[in-house]
Amino acid sequence: MDHFGLKDRVMFVTGGNRGIGAAIVEVLNKTGARVVYTYRNEPGPQAELAFRADVTDPASMDEAIDRTENEVGPIYGVVLNAGITKDNLFPRISVEDWYAVIDTNLNGIFNTLRPIVPRLYDRGSGSLVFISSVVGEQGNIGQANYAASKSAVIGLAKTLGLEGARYGVRSNVVAPGFTSTDMVKAIPEKVQERILQKIPLRRFADPEEVAWAVAFMMSPLMAGYITGDVLSVNGGQYT
Ligand code: NDP
Repeated sequence: MDHFGLKDRVMFVTGGNRGIGAAIVEVLNKTGARVVYTYRNEPGPQAELAFRADVTDPASMDEAIDRTENEVGPIYGVVLNAGITKDNLFPRISVEDWYAVIDTNLNGIFNTLRPIVPRLYDRGSGSLVFISSVVGEQGNIGQANYAASKSAVIGLAKTLGLEGARYGVRSNVVAPGFTSTDMVKAIPEKVQERILQKIPLRRFADPEEVAWAVAFMMSPLMAGYITGDVLSVNGGQYT
């Protein structure tokens, strides 16, 4: 059964080798989609195609989109997942760390979308799913650069929801709360305990729980009338 309406559709996922991105690749595989993903360092799960590409490099992303469409077929879905943190209290954020986070988390999305969005508009169908964060909705001490990048993603997704509607292209955000990946493992244990106190479900998300929300937003059957929206997957931390 093609419950999601995604069978044989081509999905392009950035940073699909580990963490939330790897879970997204595995869940989209289960829907019968043909999944292509990029990674920066080491490859991850099985997929139709996986190759190295750096979201901060516009030429690399132009090539990645071309390669996907030439070797696999016209892309239907794009998951903007690649992201980094470089945490510090605002007065201690270096110029390098500010630019690195904005460059990956925001400019990286622009570099990925620039070569593909016009094609989706021309073809008259497509679905964009942006991975923001509860931190982009709520703010978080020590994450000004990251919060700024993740709030910006929401503004971008909402705008593309408005602009893309007439071309049959939906644009939505999944905003995960703290999720058990390397990114959260890097947070000192004491801070992790403090965060847990603020989560009504009293645990971090499993990456697969975020990935199913992405499949839902991607799906033309389940979310065909949803665009410009934010789906928060945060255990009740922020609603
Ligand atoms: P991880 O640190 O586990 O993985 C980050 C992914 O992004 C990796 O696949 C990494 O590739 C890729 N990546 C980073 N920089 C680049 C780049 N320049 N070009 C291409 N790929 C790059 O993070 P998560 O899985 O936890 O996070 C995934 C997304 O979810 C991010 O956007 C993050 O902000 C967001 N998020 C995470 C939350 C969490 O609690 N974990 C909560 C809310 C949102 P490589 O392995 O090759 O370095």
